[in-house]
Amino acid sequence: MRHRIAVVGSGPAGLTFARVLHRHDYPVTVLERDPAPDARPPGGTLDLHEGLGQLALDKAGLLAEFQALSRPEGQAMRILDTAGTVLRDWRPRPDDRANPEIDRGQLRDLLLGPLDVQWGRDVTEIVPGTRDGVLVHFADGRQETFDLVVGADGAWSRTRPAVSPVTPHYTGVTTVETSLDDVDTRHPDLARLIGDGSVAVYGVNRKLVAQRNSGGHVKVYAQFRAPLDWHTNLDLADVEAVRSSLLALFDGWAAPVLGLLRHGTAFVHRPLYVLPVSHTWAHVPGVTLLGDAAHLMPPLGVGANLAMLEGAELAESIAAAPGPGDLDEAVRAFEEQMWARAGRWAKITTAGLERLVSPDPTEALAHFDEVQPS
Ligand SMILES: Cc1cc2nc3c(=O)[nH]c(=O)nc-3n(C[C@H](O)[C@H](O)[C@H](O)COP(=O)(O)OP(=O)(O)OC[C@H]3O[C@@H](n4cnc5c(N)ncnc54)[C@H](O)[C@@H]3O)c2cc1C
Repeated sequence: MRHRIAVVGSGPAGLTFARVLHRHDYPVTVLERDPAPDARPPGGTLDLHEGLGQLALDKAGLLAEFQALSRPEGQAMRILDTAGTVLRDWRPRPDDRANPEIDRGQLRDLLLGPLDVQWGRDVTEIVPGTRDGVLVHFADGRQETFDLVVGADGAWSRTRPAVSPVTPHYTGVTTVETSLDDVDTRHPDLARLIGDGSVAVYGVNRKLVAQRNSGGHVKVYAQFRAPLDWHTNLDLADVEAVRSSLLALFDGWAAPVLGLLRHGTAFVHRPLYVLPVSHTWAHVPGVTLLGDAAHLMPPLGVGANLAMLEGAELAESIAAAPGPGDLDEAVRAFEEQMWARAGRWAKITTAGLERLVSPDPTEALAHFDEVQPS
């Protein structure tokens, strides 16, 4: 028996879920708010871990294609102090495939493959328990029903209210993101500073990270502790004003490091929100959540990995469930497994954020030494 299954969202969670179901010849409706795959810039680079994101890609039959696209050299990580002195310069062995990097756009295209995503479908509300199943409301007034709706719709999920009243809260740490294009040609000094992977500089309650993407593109993240309204007197659309404000905030840091901000082309403000550690809910038949919708946590390199593995695992459980009662049992069992694993990672990443954006920058170095293989 084939159930009517919909997934809301075509991020890493939703696409991996749909792709693994597709591999099992199981039909699934993918509902995505964006009008097209390229409607928004796809974002920076992701490192996919061997036992998490890569395992999910294996379950989708896409590991070999990932290995061909990904950048193992992107695992390189350099740490400087604010005076520009190199404190750590970690480089992967040539055969190291533990956490290779891939551009988000490349990962999205890899997962999309043969999937028939319904673009421009903005879900506004999920109503479980109607006579014909779970009702999905759309912004254009349309409605559809399914046996199972999987909310993979990210931090501000419209599916989540059907199972949980909890909403994300601000961590006290915000990010301003900028980028550099064609870095090897236009900014060779910065290209050398960044190396093949990432460079991170930790100061008091603030840090700067630059990460190489493919094609000479670099994403730069300025992260600092600040109240949510820190920019009240700043026009965030005014590139020069934001640049000056950041340069003032990082005043006294070495000139080459500040070059990462000086040459940034546009600035995007992203305050860091999280769901409570160990967010769970009373099981609601016909609705579940995956990825950031279920367990938004600080961005310390696992969110997409967990989202993908959950998508793959839920899809495999559904494909193996023969009857209607088995579907609900499969979802319940999946939720227990997801909550346990995500809860562990939420604790780790919450503690990690405290140490990486800390009044004592030596904490950040100690954190790096604990998590980085020697
Ligand atoms: C700066 C930064 C760096 C990061 N780096 C890493 C990293 O290196 N490794 C890692 O594992 N994680 C990383 N993360 C975390 C990672 O980005 C997220 O955990 C991951 O994207 C979550 O995937 P998702 O599919 O759950 O949600 P999302 O990626 O948010 O996707 C949700 C999708 O749902 C769609 N949607 C939303 N609302 C609706 C609606 N109402 N109707 C229909 N569709 C809707 C959205 O358009 C989107 O396509 C990083 C995060 C940040 C902010």
